[in-house]
Amino acid sequence: MGEGRESFAVAGQRADRRSDAPRRVRVALAGNPNSGKTTLFNLLTGSRQHVGNYPGVTVEKKEGVRRVGGVRLDIVDLPGTYSLTARSTDELVARRFLIDEHPDVVVCVADASNLERNLYLTVQLLELDLPLVLALNMSDVAAARGQVIDRENLSRLLGGVPIIPTVGNRGVGIEALADAIAAVGTGAHPIRHVPVSYGAEVDEEIAKLSALLEPQGARLAPRGPPWVALKLLEADPAIRDLVRTRCAEAETILAGADAAGAHLRTLLGDEPEILIADLRYGFAAGAFRETVRCTRESRRTRSDQIDAIITHPVLSLLIFFGLMYLVFLATFRLGAYPKDGLHHLFHYLAQAAGGLWPLGSTSTLRSLLVDGVIGGVGGVLEFLPNILILFLGIAVLEDSGYMARAAFIMDRWMHKIGLHGKSFIPMLIGFGCTVPAVMATRVLESRRDRLTTMLILPLMSCGARLPIYTLLAGAFFPVQWQAPVMWTMYLVGIVMAVVVAKVLRVTVLRGDAEPFVMELPPYRAPTVRGALIHMGYRAWAYLRKAGTIILGVSVCLWALTSYPKPPASDPTEPAAAAPQRAGPVQTARPAAAIEYSAAGRIGKAIEPATRPLGFDWRVNTALLGAVAAKEVFVAQMGVVHSMEATQDQEPEPLEAALRRNYTPLQAVAIMLFCLLGLPCVATVGVVRAESGSWGWTLLQWGGLTALAYVATVMVYQTGLALGLGAG
Ligand code: GDP
Ligand code: MG
Repeated sequence: MGEGRESFAVAGQRADRRSDAPRRVRVALAGNPNSGKTTLFNLLTGSRQHVGNYPGVTVEKKEGVRRVGGVRLDIVDLPGTYSLTARSTDELVARRFLIDEHPDVVVCVADASNLERNLYLTVQLLELDLPLVLALNMSDVAAARGQVIDRENLSRLLGGVPIIPTVGNRGVGIEALADAIAAVGTGAHPIRHVPVSYGAEVDEEIAKLSALLEPQGARLAPRGPPWVALKLLEADPAIRDLVRTRCAEAETILAGADAAGAHLRTLLGDEPEILIADLRYGFAAGAFRETVRCTRESRRTRSDQIDAIITHPVLSLLIFFGLMYLVFLATFRLGAYPKDGLHHLFHYLAQAAGGLWPLGSTSTLRSLLVDGVIGGVGGVLEFLPNILILFLGIAVLEDSGYMARAAFIMDRWMHKIGLHGKSFIPMLIGFGCTVPAVMATRVLESRRDRLTTMLILPLMSCGARLPIYTLLAGAFFPVQWQAPVMWTMYLVGIVMAVVVAKVLRVTVLRGDAEPFVMELPPYRAPTVRGALIHMGYRAWAYLRKAGTIILGVSVCLWALTSYPKPPASDPTEPAAAAPQRAGPVQTARPAAAIEYSAAGRIGKAIEPATRPLGFDWRVNTALLGAVAAKEVFVAQMGVVHSMEATQDQEPEPLEAALRRNYTPLQAVAIMLFCLLGLPCVATVGVVRAESGSWGWTLLQWGGLTALAYVATVMVYQTGLALGLGAG
């Protein structure tokens, strides 16, 4: 029976054949050893079999034929493998067949009683983007063990592949399997491509290598550059050889792959090959956890035992919010010491810089340097310790594998609000900074999911709001209340995000969420080095922002608050005429001068509109800074209150000035407004770039600011009505 072989030999002419009737569909059976592949193969093909060898190796190759209606299935039984990493002859043979012969359908024969382990191979077939049918063989054994598999859900997670339960040794499910193969093979049953993510860092390296490989496209056919890039990162010897023999720029590409591998090794503290395998296991574990229910207690691994607690429906939420609370507590309490140190350092720097000019000098340059540059940037850098601790906490939770669990736990809730489980990852990053978070929405496939996530991201309270909370909570609340107040702010942001997402999903962004597997990678002890590197990257991004955007903004705001200058002789401006304070630092400018400046005038002009929120012109003026970058608000509050300093003494601490001018209720109103409204310019820029639309960008800015306004009015007015307005 040479017909089977013949049909394989003419791979690449599938397009012509598709129009043939009766049609031919080339099918490969792949699966772990002992999953029952040969049993199913025999049942599918009956006596119409042919046994030969794969070219060049002594691995037995069985081919056979089955007819389904007018369709002819040419079936080959591949060697059993756990993986397609080409570490053994069997793996190499199976992989080469899948790649070079490109069958129309691959039947993944899985042992249903060992589904999680069998899904590991399924993930690799998904990576190859082959049209799949999943045969859940040994479903009798699975049932006997009390396992219930939600096939419908599993199918959705795997891109709509048909899932057919079979019992090979009793011939159950063979007709259904043959029908499903024919349906996929003839294109009657379409399958969605499921992208597998390996985490932001690995994905980024894959994207870079793919770009290098792109010009070689045709030579690497039929598998695309991303797959080849993935294999190069895994240091796959066969693929390295392929690149070496077929690509013009082989040396550059292989050097790029080595560099990427080395980068990941330093960043994540492990071989890329192992990291990628972990993520595949994570995908398998996640899909398994979401779709298989065990009605009977079974043996569990330690990781399963931990997961049972950590992903428990009720405990998980307590643990999640508890851990977050601990991180914030550390951020706040531990961060206070180095923060004070930095505060004194910048104060000293301002003194030293101010001392370069003669006493009482009104030099513009001096004022620019002391108030604009050192005052503005210093006010922001003071919060670096808090931010480092927050980032370190997040890095440890990420590296240990907990964040993936958190995303997994949240997936249930996220689906309820019409968001994707994967949206949770950008949302977590959003606690650091909205800008990278918006970029991280790229993990989401559908544009609707991406847009929804992007639009709500500014509600995740970013690191730049931290200085605002630290200042106001510190000034207005006793120590034991500071962490709870801050934690509440984060919680309010999350709740608002949920509400806004829900509203978006029933209005402008209506539609079903796409199903997706939430990966559950194995737990690993986070390495000090890895956590520090992760933290370092983010801290560096923050510093860069301080050095560029914030520096620029501080100078602009300095100009806005310095000009126009009041006429010196104006008798209605007594403060301006008063002698300059003789203190060592003269950051203080007379109240009247700031009121007279452009910023003060804007602040005053909008005062009637912000009165229901409890904001005076000073807060408004400082909020101008928040539009540019949230943390600038703090520096601006310092500037607009500095004139309160008495003429002959050390300037009074900002906290004291605030306590004199505002009530705790007003402090809460300010925090709330800064949390919900006024996305910063950097966010506007990145949302414009990632959404590709000014419409969505402006909708976000206006919508969130309107939301902030309404919410703050409600809170402030309710507070007043309850008599909380007293100082
Ligand atoms: P292969 O290594 O994947 O080719 O697996 P085989 O087809 O050789 O099957 C391995 C063993 O599992 C054989 O003893 C089969 O009889 C048995 N087997 C196959 N399918 C099933 C099934 O659905 N249920 C049970 N209980 N046994 C099966
Ligand atoms: Mg076999």
